[in-house]
Parts: sequence; structure tokens; C-alpha cells
Amino acid sequence: MGIMALHAYLKGSGIESSIEIDFDFEHVEKYIDYSHLCISCMTPQKDQAYHILHLSRQFLPEICVVIGGPHASHYLEECRSQPFDHIVVGDGELALEEILTGRAGTQRVLERPVTEKQMNTFPIPYREKSFLNHYEFYFQGVRASTLLTSKGCPMSCTFCEDARTKVRMYTPEYVGRQIEDIKNAGYQGVMFFDDVMTLSKKRVYDLTQEIVKHDILYRCFGHARTMTNEIADMLQQSGCIETGVGMETGSQRILDTVMKKTTVAQNRQYVLTCNARGIRVKAFFILGLPGETRETIAETEQFLQFLMAQKLIGHHGKVIHNDFDMTIFFPYSGTEIRRRMDAGAMDVDLMFTTNPDLKYGFYKGARGSSEIVVRTSGLSAEDLRETQQRLLQTYKAL
Ligand code: SF4
Repeated sequence: MGIMALHAYLKGSGIESSIEIDFDFEHVEKYIDYSHLCISCMTPQKDQAYHILHLSRQFLPEICVVIGGPHASHYLEECRSQPFDHIVVGDGELALEEILTGRAGTQRVLERPVTEKQMNTFPIPYREKSFLNHYEFYFQGVRASTLLTSKGCPMSCTFCEDARTKVRMYTPEYVGRQIEDIKNAGYQGVMFFDDVMTLSKKRVYDLTQEIVKHDILYRCFGHARTMTNEIADMLQQSGCIETGVGMETGSQRILDTVMKKTTVAQNRQYVLTCNARGIRVKAFFILGLPGETRETIAETEQFLQFLMAQKLIGHHGKVIHNDFDMTIFFPYSGTEIRRRMDAGAMDVDLMFTTNPDLKYGFYKGARGSSEIVVRTSGLSAEDLRETQQRLLQTYKAL
């Protein structure tokens, strides 16, 4: 989404750009005519980003190399230690425009936040079919493409890099234009990728009034603290057939420790409220949060039994079950837990088993694998891995 939005913005500003999905490491000379290589990087991709940088330095010394994306924002010092010409922290549109028009000069780190008003004047993200087709996403057999109706999250979960980030919303009209664009590209489904789309009743009302005009099926992210019967009704009546939700754990003690500000009872009610309206729930869990023990895992397992025992009639008229995913906590540097671990806080029951910054930095890899760099006083890294595999194998199969 970030790259598609930047590409559309640059085009709208009269700057020629193209999107390279798979950088050709074998034939870097083919990039010789470019003035800049701009890399959007998440932390697990950092090795490739650094590789592109070093190849460019060696074979394309005239080209200016820029890094942005979450890795640049949360691992700024690490990026500074690499010979990037520019590092973009946060929003990319205005910063890239400055860099590509030469106005940034030799300024290395640029942080140019975009206001809510500005972002609603930008062109909608560029959705070219051949580019979109590289990303396959389905829910209940519906092929979907992604869309953001807002950026940022006001919640304070201490394991999350997006906690307490400013919420900026796109207008329903801006969202509607994007839905039409997605439909024109041949998709029936939309995956709304906001951190939490159901932040308030008013916002859900405004959005669903727009969404319902477009006759789509969709999935969005909800939150157990804000989900009500009224919100669930609005979602269901506008085409929502599935919600994702971060339930994290079945343990109230851990929910409180990580400042999730939800209760296990609210999480249960969320499932019942959605399922009663035919909305399937995909719940996301994290193993290895501070204080994880065999007892808290037993509580999570109990919750999984409840979640997966529910039955509902799916979009195709058949009986279906809820779904879940389970990863192992990776302490990214932008999270409050990592800050406290680095500060040596004694009350965080979580220890590194290896230096996380020397690893790839992924919490979910091929076939659901996790890169495990932590343990708690009660559970080793191997215990966490075994538990993850056991719970996925036991309950995903239901
Ligand atoms: S985990 Fe979800 S609700 Fe919590 S801060 Fe992150 S995005 Fe927001």
C-alpha cells in the first residue's frame, strides 16, 4: 500500500517513477538510468535493503539510494550507520518529493509528516492490475485487495510498534473512490488493513454508509473494547463477512501486563457478537509475551477451544468455523516492551536468548514459522516453539 500510494503521489507531482517488485540482484546494471533507488523496508527485509545499497555503491555509484518504511523509522540509528544518501522517517510523500526534486540537498534524515487534510488531497494509491496480482489474498474464497481507511492507532499495547500513533482518517468519499478502483481491477473483496477500523460508532457509521453503496464483501480489523451490537450490525449490513482481531492471549494477567486494555470476557463477547451476525472471527494470538507460563498457555488453549467450537453460516451458505493465527513475540525496537528490556527493567519477565538485531527480525515466516529470540522465566524458546506448533496443529484442524 505504501509503495502504491507513493507512486501515485509522485506521478501526480509530475515526477517519473516506476515500481520494482523484485530487485534484480544479478543484473544491477539495468538500473543505470535511474537517478534514485528508493527502498521501502520492513525490518525482516533489512538484509535485502542493505544488499541493494552495497551493490549500488559498487556498480552504480552515481545513483542516490533512499530508505524509508517502518525499518527506517524504528531502526534509525542502524540505518544511519549504513551509507544511505537519505533516510525517510514516517510518511514518504513530501519527503520523497523533496529528495527527488533536489530540494532536500544533502540532508540525510527527513521527517515530513502529512496532515489528515493533506492526505485526503493526494491521488488515491496506484492500483495497476499486473502489480496487484503479485499479492494474493482470499477470505472465505473471496479474492480481495487491500485498502486503508485510516493510519495510526490510539491504543497502547506495549508489544506493538504502532501503539499511540496519531490517527488520521481518510474521508468516506476518498475510501469510496478506492473501492471502485479495486472493483474495476476485478476484485469482489476488500481487505481493510487499518490497525483498527472500528474505533468509534460514528466512524463506523460514516464508513459503512459509503461502503454499502459499492456492493462488496469485506474483512476489517475490530477491537474487543469497541465492538458493540450496533457496530456489528453496521458491519454486517454493509458486507463485512469476517473481522480480524488481536486477542493476543487467554490470560487476563498478560492482557493487563501488555496494556491491551481488554478483558477475556470482552474477547469472548466479541466472538459471540460477530458470529451471531454471520461474521467470522479471525483471532490473532501471541505466545511469549512477558510473564508467559504453562498456566497462561492453558488459559489461551481454553480460549481457543471456545473460539473454534463456534459454528456459523458462512458467506457461501455452508457451516464454517472461526479461525486464528499464533505467532511468537519478536521484540522490535519500536515497542514499549523492547524499550523496557533495553533499559534493564527488572519487572519485565522476558529475556533475550539471542541478540534480536542480529537476526532477520521476522515474527512470521514461511509455513507459519517464527524466529524466536525470547524466553520467559517459566518457558524456554523451545517450549514456546513446541507450544505454537501443538496449538496450531490441534485447533487449526477443527
Ligand atoms: S496491537 Fe492493535 S490495538 Fe494494540 S496498539 Fe497495535 S494496532 Fe493498536
